[in-house]
Amino acid sequence: PAQPRERLRIALQKSGRLGDPARELLAAGGLTWRESRDRLFLYGESLPVDLLLVRDDDIPGLITDGVCDLGIVGRNVLVENSLALGAQGHRPLVEWRQLGWGRCSLDVAIGEDEEWTGPQQLAGLRIATSYPQILGRWLRQEGVEAQTVVLNGSVEIAPRLGQADLVCDLVSTGGTLRANQLRPVTTILDSEAVIAGPDQRLEDGRQEIADLLLGRLDGAMQLKESRLLMLRAARPVLDQVLPLLPGGHEPTLTGVEGRDEVAIQMLVHGPVSWAKLEDLKRAGAHNLMVLPVEGMLA
Ligand code: ATP
Ligand code: MG
Repeated sequence: PAQPRERLRIALQKSGRLGDPARELLAAGGLTWRESRDRLFLYGESLPVDLLLVRDDDIPGLITDGVCDLGIVGRNVLVENSLALGAQGHRPLVEWRQLGWGRCSLDVAIGEDEEWTGPQQLAGLRIATSYPQILGRWLRQEGVEAQTVVLNGSVEIAPRLGQADLVCDLVSTGGTLRANQLRPVTTILDSEAVIAGPDQRLEDGRQEIADLLLGRLDGAMQLKESRLLMLRAARPVLDQVLPLLPGGHEPTLTGVEGRDEVAIQMLVHGPVSWAKLEDLKRAGAHNLMVLPVEGMLA
């Protein structure tokens, strides 16, 4: 039961992998803040948006309890906690935005020398994980009965300690698993950082504040991926060059004074690869340049 509030409150990870990028995103959206003495509460100055810095595991519960309106958290933590909260009769939490970073996957991993024939081979085995809800849901879907050993850290050493037969853990590069003689065999959840929130609109003035902030964050995320592509091409080769331009905005073509040549400039969404530049050059373009975009107002 939330008290009426005219300020939006967002929960972020205090430290760890998602804390800094989350604050960078909010700063790119124009939010500035003042720190409290204990550094757990950041008071928003430029917008009525305050930040609460917590352990990521606490974020879904804080939203469910109405202490915070939104949170920036990994999908893995959101789904795990939502399943538990749902089982207690709470309304579901949903993803308001996908942020495209903090990517990892929740994988089942077995001994590197063991053969993988499919989920059925897990029947009767002990699986160490920090994600019992997500693992449990997957095991039910696969119709497999296995034993779950819940550990809150160092999951990947459980098989060596004889605590479990295999693991279900987060993987990004696979290095930690390899170091423990394990190999991932199946992914049960693809994860990235998300903005989590309730499955209904916020009350008081908070939805309007959220709309404003999310609009800015969308702009900031788009900007971060935008590049300005510049090149030149002689008029006779334009027919070969133009079809090779990457997807994005419509290119602007400008005649070059005193030459039978045009300068081309266009906004591209996402990186422009070396291979793309080489293709354009082979088709007759020259003076190719890719620039980051600092600001944009259509
Ligand atoms: P806290 O102290 O806040 O509980 P934590 O140790 O649980 O921190 P981190 O290790 O900082 O959490 O990871 C936060 C999130 O980063 C994970 O829940 C996951 O969504 C994401 N992540 C991305 N890559 C990885 C990875 N290789 N291992 C673990 N988490 C990853
Ligand atoms: Mg945590």
